Amino acid sequence: MARCNVCVVALAAVLLLVFAIVSRSNGLKGREFQGASRIPSEFSEEELVAMKEALKGAIQIPTVSFSHEESNFTALAEFGEYIHKVFPAVFNTSFIRHEVVGNYSHLFTIQGSEPSLQPYMLMAHFDVVPAHEEGWEVPPFSGLERDGFIHGRGTLDNKNSVMAILQALELLLTRNYKPRRSFFITLGHDEEVSGTNGAQKMSALLQARGVQLAFIVDECGFILDGFIPNLQKPFAMISISEKGAIDLMLQVNMTPGHSSAPPKETSIGILSAALSRLEQTPMPNMFKSGLLKTTLQQLASEFSFPTNIVLSNLWLFGPLVSRILERNDVTNALIRTTTALTMYNAGVKVNVIPPVAKATVNIRIHPAQTVVEVLELIKNIVADGRVQFHVLRAFDPLPISPIDDQALGYQMLHQTIQSVFPEVNIVTPGTCIGNTDSRHYTNLTTGIYLFNPVYLQPQDFRRLGLY
Ligand SMILES: [Zn+2]
Repeated sequence: MARCNVCVVALAAVLLLVFAIVSRSNGLKGREFQGASRIPSEFSEEELVAMKEALKGAIQIPTVSFSHEESNFTALAEFGEYIHKVFPAVFNTSFIRHEVVGNYSHLFTIQGSEPSLQPYMLMAHFDVVPAHEEGWEVPPFSGLERDGFIHGRGTLDNKNSVMAILQALELLLTRNYKPRRSFFITLGHDEEVSGTNGAQKMSALLQARGVQLAFIVDECGFILDGFIPNLQKPFAMISISEKGAIDLMLQVNMTPGHSSAPPKETSIGILSAALSRLEQTPMPNMFKSGLLKTTLQQLASEFSFPTNIVLSNLWLFGPLVSRILERNDVTNALIRTTTALTMYNAGVKVNVIPPVAKATVNIRIHPAQTVVEVLELIKNIVADGRVQFHVLRAFDPLPISPIDDQALGYQMLHQTIQSVFPEVNIVTPGTCIGNTDSRHYTNLTTGIYLFNPVYLQPQDFRRLGLY
């Protein structure tokens, strides 16, 4: 993983987008909100400097999640104190209730003046994955500003959203803002290690209070620039689903023996053959029933001849296009369930045949499939009764959120993106190939929209160190 950075201008854009969403959400439905409220187009110089410094300070707190059990708890607590200090209005406004959940996560309830309007929710997380010093051009927790970029772990994933959401609210409050529609802000502290202590507990708390949400906005989904060959212009992709996952352990038990008289097959040999079959047999190509097809159809007019014709006629050219997409690792991950062999354990001594061999496979499930279906496929591919399967963790893909005219969250994001980024002609639905905390909130809403308003180029993708 190389450096993480985010353009200072992009930070302002993130903030502006949240600012606009919050401003626009006051009781408007469907198409009504087109032009219904003014987006503030400028911040004062002083405000711009303050928001930049606030982000740098947030990056400098090493809120690392190492594992499900181990986090930098001191830093997580420090982060809570930090946001109190930087956003005084947020914490001292009568219609905002702040609660700490699961010791470190933050839940804000912003009470609107019209309780009849269904509330919505803005989400982000402030924990980050570990960052070893090597490979970084600057120390990963420096928050150093250089050449117009702020460097550090969390600048893209996801302290930029945390700070932008709170900053937008702080600035709105200082402009005497009072919302009509209530909303929630949830800031998770363990998203990188499954969100069970943060998001899951906040979700349970809201459910116990009978909360139902009009929609949720969380990270993932970007303004993509240069990802598709021959597409010159950037486009915005709002993820309306995300892949599911299975952590699957494969295990082979055999009788132990001595290497001087080895059996024909060993636990290592059997397991290796099974893993090799798994790697050599891709899961089915789901292009036909996936969201990428919709994305490409919407982008068709942006391409020149003959690509525009090909993408406008996927009923005919679909098989050809899907074969091309298979060649690239990222687009391949968008059209099928992927299986990544990530851990292997066997043997302790050079002359001992080990009785046990174990391997772990990380599987990311395409939204058109389920955990049960994929497990069945994997068992059929391995096709060896001596291989045992242990599911360590599994969850289905996020249900696909609506994007029709009545889908308040999607329409609002769509129009807001086009207002804030007038150079972006096209906003498309897509799939998040990672995982976010939003899956813990499917009990509260059917509208989950994943969009982080940051320009992302292919070289930035590896900087995320995500999921
Ligand atoms: Zn994240």
